[in-house]
Amino acid sequence: MKIVETFENRYALLCAAIQKYMPDTDMDRIDRAVAYAKEKHKDQKRKDGSPYVIHPLAVAEIVAELGLDEEAILGALLHDCIEDTDASFDEIAKLFGQTCAELVEGVTKLTRANFSSNEQEQMENLRKMFMAMSKDIRVVLIKISDRLHNMRTMQYQTPEKQLLKCRETMDIYAPLAYRLGMQRVKWELEDIALRYIDPTNYEKIMVYLQAHKEKDEAFMHAVQEKIRDRLTEVGIHNSTYGRIKHVYSIYRKMNAQDKTIDELYDIYAFRVVVDSIPDCYNVLGHIHDLFNLVPGRFKDYISTPKPNMYQSLHTTVIGEQGIPFEVQIRTWEMHETAEYGVAAHWKYKQGSGNARDFEWIRRLLESQQDTDAEDYVSSFKIDMFDDEVFVFTPKGKIVSLPAGSTPIDFAYFIHSGVGNSLVGAKINNRISNIDTKLKNGDIVEIITSKTAKGPSRDWLNICQSNQARTKIKQWFKKEKREENILHGRSSFEAEMRRLMLPLSALTDPELEAGLLKKLAFDTWDDMYAAIGYGGLTATKAVGRIRDDINRASKPQAEKTGPLRLTPENESAKHSRHSAGGVIVEDIDSCMIKFAKCCTPVPGDAIIGFITRGFGVSVHRADCPNTAGRDDPEMAARYVRVRWANMEEQPFDTTLELDCITRDGLLLDVATVMTTARVRVKELFGKDLPGGHSVFTVRFEVRNVAELESIRNKLLSIRDVIGSRRGQN
Ligand code: MN
Repeated sequence: MKIVETFENRYALLCAAIQKYMPDTDMDRIDRAVAYAKEKHKDQKRKDGSPYVIHPLAVAEIVAELGLDEEAILGALLHDCIEDTDASFDEIAKLFGQTCAELVEGVTKLTRANFSSNEQEQMENLRKMFMAMSKDIRVVLIKISDRLHNMRTMQYQTPEKQLLKCRETMDIYAPLAYRLGMQRVKWELEDIALRYIDPTNYEKIMVYLQAHKEKDEAFMHAVQEKIRDRLTEVGIHNSTYGRIKHVYSIYRKMNAQDKTIDELYDIYAFRVVVDSIPDCYNVLGHIHDLFNLVPGRFKDYISTPKPNMYQSLHTTVIGEQGIPFEVQIRTWEMHETAEYGVAAHWKYKQGSGNARDFEWIRRLLESQQDTDAEDYVSSFKIDMFDDEVFVFTPKGKIVSLPAGSTPIDFAYFIHSGVGNSLVGAKINNRISNIDTKLKNGDIVEIITSKTAKGPSRDWLNICQSNQARTKIKQWFKKEKREENILHGRSSFEAEMRRLMLPLSALTDPELEAGLLKKLAFDTWDDMYAAIGYGGLTATKAVGRIRDDINRASKPQAEKTGPLRLTPENESAKHSRHSAGGVIVEDIDSCMIKFAKCCTPVPGDAIIGFITRGFGVSVHRADCPNTAGRDDPEMAARYVRVRWANMEEQPFDTTLELDCITRDGLLLDVATVMTTARVRVKELFGKDLPGGHSVFTVRFEVRNVAELESIRNKLLSIRDVIGSRRGQN
């Protein structure tokens, strides 16, 4: 039989529901929304041939029955407008307000997302994502109402669509309705879904129930009367009625217990609703007096509510005919909560609106997720999954990551091999930066390359998940010892300089062993490596040995005053002997070393610094580490130095190249160096956020002119956009 519904019928039903449940509603606003939806959907028909607007009207009616507020009814009326018509968010916001527009937009988002999945273990994540995407609990309730009406009219869909939608209903919508405590909606969704998913068994159960209908009703009537009579007799005000459990719950019991329907224990359920909690326990006593108790079946969900805040006393007893049945005893408030769940909140709000009602919704949410439920209640916002973000793989597998996660986290979640060969990412099919923060529902695709250089150290700061961080650290630990030592050393030495600690202390024969022992490393390289891969911070390392170094160097400084090398005799005073290609003025001969921080080469303006125990260290005049020479206390340790004419001897120097990240760049740099016949000591690159990389190249040059010529060659490489003398 095909019933073509009319607009007028549906509209009248909606008005009646609103009148019944929410008499204070602004009907003008509702009328305008109905007219708007009717106009927008005017060219569309439902599968059964009726005008499309019937659907939003029916959904609004369900929402009204749930007792939600006016905004939610408007949202329901307009819920398909953005998705299916030319209506826009702005237009709806202008005509019906921001809240209504946001609800419609929220429902639209859920409509567009694909929540079907074949993998059972994904279901919980799908449901969480559903909630997280909704933001406002009313969006979830409208969407569930939307699905309920679609299920009620499922017969007009193709068999494929029926199966797909019913599976989705079983997997997502019914459990959500349960989670939100909406038992009635959950039952209806499940029963309709079962009819399409397992029509044979659904039919069997229906036939059985139909055949036993008279007997069942007689039985239920007898039990009902017996209970009512007793309670009236003892003066407990009550509403008592019996029912057959819903089809899906019978079906599930049959499967779980591998029984036929005749063998099933309890397909009958009686409900006694009373005014107070003491009455509940009184009723329980009378039930156990009237019938025989089935041991081990009593459950007190009043003192221990279910996670979804369901409260009742449950007991199973056997009547005179030997038929077992369940009795549920609860107060009216518990009853509302059981039937409407979260939605009951609005019902209370419109009625008495007392604080206890907020209390239960708070507990409902607390029991599901430990987040700040206070905020949630005041704004009706869903932030219970704020610490997680849910995204999809291109194949539709859902991945849950910590909030703020990036494609880097995603890649390492998939596999460390994927992370280590990550070179780029697509989010929703568009190339995106790998440090983009992922949003719920994003489809993330990782671009990998066999020639990828591996993770960059910056990733450690970008990624959010411990998993990614651990895997990146592991990689550095394993793959890059040399590089780790270099990086670790540079940050360690920088920290030493920051605290004005002499680097020479590290190799001081009296100190070295003790310091290493304190740090629990065998060699400095081991410690540098640990800092390099992130196992230890430079601050921590220096902090551990700081006092020891200070203690060792202070008394010495006091004893001898500012260190100054004293020339041995008058003649030496003006001699200009050179060592290592550098002449130190006023000093006859001394050990010379070239500072690692600025790697000076002949031609650079230079300055010498008298170290403790290591002679003179030669810096470039513009090296920031020599900034202290204006400090009167330090000034004495600086000496004038200049280059001797010994340009045959090569010097190590370092250039840092700023580049736009691109494959093959490293090779280009290497080629330039080879062509220029430069001896490269070290060459490596690292990626920075925002598509940039820095290449560091350490090589030998004879003088500044040669250095500049090489620098120009490097700058002519495509995508090399700047250069800097190294500050290791
Ligand atoms: Mn719809």
